Amino acid sequence: MKVLKFGGSSIGSVESILSVKRIVEAQTEPVIVVVSALGGITDQLIRTSQMAVEGNLDYQTSYEEIAQRHFNLMEAVIPAGEALASLKDEINAMLNELHSIYQGVFLIRDLSPKTLATVVSYGERMSSRIVTTLISGSQWRDSREFIKTERQGSKNILATEVTYSLVRDTWAEIPPISVVGGFISTDKDSGEVTNLGRGGSDYTASIIAAALDASVLEIWTDVDGFMTADPKVIQTAYTIPELTYIEAMELCNFGAKVVYPPTIYPVCVKNIPILIRNTFNPDSGGTIIKSRVKDDSRSIKGISSIKGTSLITVAGLSMVGVIGVNRRIFSCLAENGISVFMVSQASSENSTSIGVRTEDCEEACRVLNEEFEKEIEDGRMFRMQYESGLATVAVVGENMKHTPGIAGKLFGTLGRSGISVIACAQGASETNISFVINEKFLRKALNSIHDSFFLSEYKEVNLFICGVGTVGGSLLEQIHLQQEKLMRELRIKLNVVGIASSRKAMFRREGLSLVDFRQQLQQAPESNIHRLREEVIGMNIFNSVFVDCTASAEVAGLYKDFLNHNINVVAANKVAASSDYKNYRELKHIAQTRGVKFLFETNVGAGLPIIRTINDLVNSGDKILRIEAVLSGTLNFIFNTISKDIPFSETVRMAKAEGYSEPDPRIDLSGKDVIRKLVILTREAGYEIEQEDVEAKLLIPDSFFAGSLDDFWKNLPSLDADFEARREALERNHRVWRFVAKYEDGHGSVSLQEFDQSHDFYGLKGSNNIVLLTTERYNEYPMLIQGYGAGASVTAAGVFADIMSIA
Ligand code: ADP
Ligand code: ASP
Ligand code: MG
Repeated sequence: MKVLKFGGSSIGSVESILSVKRIVEAQTEPVIVVVSALGGITDQLIRTSQMAVEGNLDYQTSYEEIAQRHFNLMEAVIPAGEALASLKDEINAMLNELHSIYQGVFLIRDLSPKTLATVVSYGERMSSRIVTTLISGSQWRDSREFIKTERQGSKNILATEVTYSLVRDTWAEIPPISVVGGFISTDKDSGEVTNLGRGGSDYTASIIAAALDASVLEIWTDVDGFMTADPKVIQTAYTIPELTYIEAMELCNFGAKVVYPPTIYPVCVKNIPILIRNTFNPDSGGTIIKSRVKDDSRSIKGISSIKGTSLITVAGLSMVGVIGVNRRIFSCLAENGISVFMVSQASSENSTSIGVRTEDCEEACRVLNEEFEKEIEDGRMFRMQYESGLATVAVVGENMKHTPGIAGKLFGTLGRSGISVIACAQGASETNISFVINEKFLRKALNSIHDSFFLSEYKEVNLFICGVGTVGGSLLEQIHLQQEKLMRELRIKLNVVGIASSRKAMFRREGLSLVDFRQQLQQAPESNIHRLREEVIGMNIFNSVFVDCTASAEVAGLYKDFLNHNINVVAANKVAASSDYKNYRELKHIAQTRGVKFLFETNVGAGLPIIRTINDLVNSGDKILRIEAVLSGTLNFIFNTISKDIPFSETVRMAKAEGYSEPDPRIDLSGKDVIRKLVILTREAGYEIEQEDVEAKLLIPDSFFAGSLDDFWKNLPSLDADFEARREALERNHRVWRFVAKYEDGHGSVSLQEFDQSHDFYGLKGSNNIVLLTTERYNEYPMLIQGYGAGASVTAAGVFADIMSIA
């Protein structure tokens, strides 16, 4: 004999309830089917009572919706005829009773726990009648007659012995199919309607399975089994094929809603396995929970969490070594029906932190203050203090006890995500490490832990892309093209969670579609720097990277905040790395102490590995003695393109059109861009330098930099004749122009120089860049890095490489 429990999620819709019918009718041995109320109905029954007691007439509409949902479902799944007619009469009668109760509540504005228990009982009473009529040959049993509770403090708990004996009487003979409403019960003495607590249908099923020694308890729900974490929070969670009772109990106690915690004990004692299965996907294997499971190399099995946690601190000087304080704390809480789900006590024993549900917190403080009234009065102890708005997370797995370093890895992961742990506890059984954090970090904490412990599935990296110009746009296209391959081959999921232009921004935690991001962005809300900051920080998403493909100083001004919030920064934007030395150092320092990355490889030489190479040299103990480089793709393009037929002004125009130059080409022509690059390289080589320290020999007159961009374009051709004269002379001497940046002996400079064929810089083509590094090790023959130094796609590829190095 089996017990099958179907949750609200399995009988909420026409499709799902028909699936229940198929599953039950296909069984080959006797089954007892336990059902919940239609999905969401219990909540609505409660909400409606609240409206009524508050005198809100909307309770009428809400009641009508409840009635309508039941009628719609019945009519959709049960063929017209006698059975349907009599079922409708029955449901109608119950609904009329329910309506009268609501009216009473409305009139006298009183909703006692007893009335509320009666109200919610209609959910399972109605659903179980509907399912009985739906499933051919099934017999209904009234759970109010055999599931009995008794009072303990303010709570109703199962009256185990009477219940077991009544269950056995009820099923002295076991018909092929019985149907029972879960959750509801009656008081063993007064006969008043009670229930087993929210989610209690699982428990009803477990009690029946245990009392009747069922071969298995099957819990049918809306997910493929017990998963590594709540799939509604962690998209990458996956089904755990096998769990021990202890592991399941730990996970459920800490909020894995898939099974109501008290469910496990009755069947565990009888060694009856629990099978979790998906009503919507009956062919998937699901999860089996039993006492022994196959060896699994994974150190932890699952993560669960509870929101709405408060932490009470019981502290005082007298507590040191005083025997009995703990006994008093826990008995006093237990006597008042307050459950404690976490305790952490420092070995100094002068403070104990107790995790309770927030709704119990005030009461808990009150009773503890009362218990320790004398000690508080004479100053040996402090009044209870508490902190709310917290969440408790549990990391569970029986293998933890054989694996050293789990706690280290766990807390390291949290630290890197910028999450501080307020209290933590690990029992000697080592199957559970639980800790308390601020609730606003919960999602991030769960994601980071899941990511670092369940690597077998995939690693997620969440990207904010700011700037959708040539580089940003090209980056998004490259990501779009690579996404699938990275997922398949490297198990890395690049999730673009935000895209912003200077005017618009869109964000989506689950990831934006990159197919038509430009159109989407057009329809996205207006944005500005403040919103950008709020959204990126506010999303508080784990493993996140802010990618700056703008040239904006305002955006660069956000890095510090982002790094401080443990968001990695990848910048194509040169502003930050070339800003004040102090700011540059500070950003690098924050990144280092926070364990995140601040990368800007493309600031110099687009995708060429220049900064990385300098870092590698320096880190391995080499010393950079001289840097000589042609770093402006734009200037190089200009001086390689200029000819008898193409005047200077035209080459500038072309550089802009090809996407080599900065949006304002004057930044390139003034040498400013090269100065910034030289500053960045020099700093990465380990020297302190500011932009002002670099000596700049300009190649066009000062006046060109003063006016507007329009004036600039208009006046530019006036330089053509002079350039042509100089160019001709140069050509005659077989020489070329290169705009060179140089650092040596504490001195930096940029200038236009002439080179003949004997020099490495002579043959430089198109917009290419070249860097010569003379170091202690590469001395006689300097190291040479050369290649495309500008262009949207190579720059985007360089940014992509920075992102991948973080991933
Ligand atoms: P039912 O109506 O069938 O009783 P519940 O909503 O009570 O269903 O429980 C199923 C839900 O539990 C899932 O939809 C899922 O969101 C949630 N859940 C939380 N933690 C887990 C977990 N570790 N594994 C699977 N589901 C979980
Ligand atoms: N219907 C009840 C609830 O929503 C019991 C259950 O679904 O298990 O809490
Ligand atoms: Mg449930």
